Amino acid sequence: MVLAFMALALLPLLALDLLVAYRSEEILGRRVAQELQVEVETGAEALEVYLAGIRRDLLALARFLERRLEPRAEAPGWEEVQEEFYRVLQAENAYYQVRYLDSRGMERIRVNNLAGRLVQVPESELQDKADRYYWREAMQTAPGEVYLSHLDANIEYGVPEDPLRLVVRLATVVADGAGRKRGVVIINVFGDQLLRALTPLRAGSGTRVILLGDNRRFVEMSRSATNLQFVSGRQEILEAELGAALAEGSSLGGNGASIGRERLVAEAAVHPGMDRQWRLLKIVPGEQLFSEITGLRRTLAFFGLLIGLGAALLALAAARQFSRPIRRLSRYALRVAEGDFSSPPAIGSRDELGRLAGSLAEMGRSLAESRDRLVDWNLSLQQEVDRKVAALRESEERYRLIFSSESDAILIFEAETRALVEANRAAAELYGYALDEFAGLCLEDLLCDVEQGRARLARVLAGTLSRIELTYHRKKDGSVFPAEVSAGTFRWGGKLMLVGIVRDISERLEIDRMKDEMLAAVSHEMRTPLTAMMGFAEFMLDNPVAEAEAREYLGIILKETDRLHGLIDNLLSFQRLRAGYGGDGFAGVSLEQLLEEVAELFGGPSSRRKLVLDCQEGLPAVHGDAELLRQAVGNLVSNAVKYSPPGTRVTLGARAAEGWVTLRVEDQGQGIPPAVREQIFDRFFRIDRGGSKRVGGTGLGLPLVKEIARLHGGRVRVESSEGEGSTFFLELPVAGPGRPQPQRESSSEAEFA
Ligand code: ADP
Repeated sequence: MVLAFMALALLPLLALDLLVAYRSEEILGRRVAQELQVEVETGAEALEVYLAGIRRDLLALARFLERRLEPRAEAPGWEEVQEEFYRVLQAENAYYQVRYLDSRGMERIRVNNLAGRLVQVPESELQDKADRYYWREAMQTAPGEVYLSHLDANIEYGVPEDPLRLVVRLATVVADGAGRKRGVVIINVFGDQLLRALTPLRAGSGTRVILLGDNRRFVEMSRSATNLQFVSGRQEILEAELGAALAEGSSLGGNGASIGRERLVAEAAVHPGMDRQWRLLKIVPGEQLFSEITGLRRTLAFFGLLIGLGAALLALAAARQFSRPIRRLSRYALRVAEGDFSSPPAIGSRDELGRLAGSLAEMGRSLAESRDRLVDWNLSLQQEVDRKVAALRESEERYRLIFSSESDAILIFEAETRALVEANRAAAELYGYALDEFAGLCLEDLLCDVEQGRARLARVLAGTLSRIELTYHRKKDGSVFPAEVSAGTFRWGGKLMLVGIVRDISERLEIDRMKDEMLAAVSHEMRTPLTAMMGFAEFMLDNPVAEAEAREYLGIILKETDRLHGLIDNLLSFQRLRAGYGGDGFAGVSLEQLLEEVAELFGGPSSRRKLVLDCQEGLPAVHGDAELLRQAVGNLVSNAVKYSPPGTRVTLGARAAEGWVTLRVEDQGQGIPPAVREQIFDRFFRIDRGGSKRVGGTGLGLPLVKEIARLHGGRVRVESSEGEGSTFFLELPVAGPGRPQPQRESSSEAEFA
């Protein structure tokens, strides 16, 4: 950033510096050349003006001479002429010789200017100049015209002055009144004097001003460090030295300037008269110009550098000034991005940065507000969600508990694939699977008759079947059980589901079966005594019967009535106990007496079994219902009688120990197979012995004994060896049910032994 600023400040300056340097060189060169040219052209004009002055002086002298010559013809008053010559020479220091030559070329009067001292040449030293070209050529001109010689060497007494000194001669004819040419008046001017007229030409050190005659002679004025120097010579000398520059000058067509690396040359044409054309050149050494430019460049570079440095420093300061707040702003922006909206940067300025900082701070504030609002919303949303989730979880938990604790088996299948998707524990247990084994099962795996199952499923899905009274399902182990199914459908996750509540109805069917059986048995058991009773009663009504015979028949009828009574008693008692007998008729019961009564009942003279009483003396009375206990013992004895052959012995015993009384009914009958020793206490269970040994019964006798024992807080059990006999033990707590009783682990066999 800072570097960019500095570069931004420096680059234009650098470019400007280069441009200025380049342009300044070009402009300066052009300007110098122009100035030089103007200077040279002004010089040329000054030279021409100066020559015009000489021309005027010359013509004035000629007029003066003509006037002097007029009256005296051949003998002018030379003193006057001399004075006039003196006057002219004094007036113009540059004329070094003024003279008058007569028509034969003889010098008639001559005044020299020897470095400011005017000397008239004595008559004896006057020379014949008839062989001089300038005299001859001047004599050719018409009066009033001015002859101008070439720049030529000054020749004194026939010898060219050494070192060569160029001179220019201006001459005009002096004529008499008749127009005859009487001679010529000549003014000599040294070439260097001509150049002196040009001293205004600025001349720095090394500068050269050259006047080049059309006769390839030149006069040069050059400025050394200390003074002016004049040189005359032939053009060849210059050409050897300046060659190209001279050629360049001439190629400029008289006027013009050229700039070279080495030198600047400006040239102007001078028209001195007589159709002559001289060239005036000014040569300035290039180094002079270029040193100026180099100096200028250095100055520019220096100042450029200075300005650049200043600009860079300024840029640095500005950049720091500018970038510091930007850095602070960007740091703040980063903090905002990370969620820290605190302390926005305070930028005091009112410019764009200040406004940006203000906007950023405002943005931070509103973001912080929004965030706080969002946090609040989020919090309340979270709380709401938590509440809902908790409620949902509770509800889900409740339903899951209901679902899993439901004793009925609940199974949910996907209707389309019939895959099992959910089942409760009761279902898994019902079908004999572990709960996790159920996954992967499908409806068909559980059905016995798959075709029938599918048909029923279709009806359930169609809504025409919701309850299947009886169907057969298969367990894991392959066994089959009868079931009652309630079925329904519901949609779950966009899919149709089938829910079934399956109830195993084996027990119910069994009970039904047993009920039917019992009904048949009861009917049979009732019909037997009733038939006997009806038979004897009818016989006695229809036939005259002797009293003794009648008594016998009435005895049979009574016995059958007892039997019937017992049967009905069993049924009623059982029903009463099942319905819930509260033990209202409990009291102390003497078992000794009870056993005696039962023995008496069954061991009458008609009984073909021998009933033996084996009671311990001093038996405690048992807290119980005497009627029920009598019925229980009666049932046991009745069975012992029923299921043992005639002539065998039936023993009724009783023993007391540790708060318990154990009653024992022992027979010598057929015994009970071990496999059914528990089952004989179940309702309506009967050992089907078949054949002629079939004995009437209802299967209610032992269950009733079991119920009565339970009601008294005791129990009944059997020991038996097949073919040898059975012994039933009825164990009763002396204190009755609901009281703390001593534990009895010992077998009653020991006590009876
Ligand atoms: P039931 O009316 O058939 O006698 P119970 O419930 O009294 O009904 O007896 C059930 C079954 O137990 C009887 O059918 C019988 O086969 C068997 N049983 C009961 N007592 C004896 C016994 N003392 N000896 C042999 N079998 C017996």
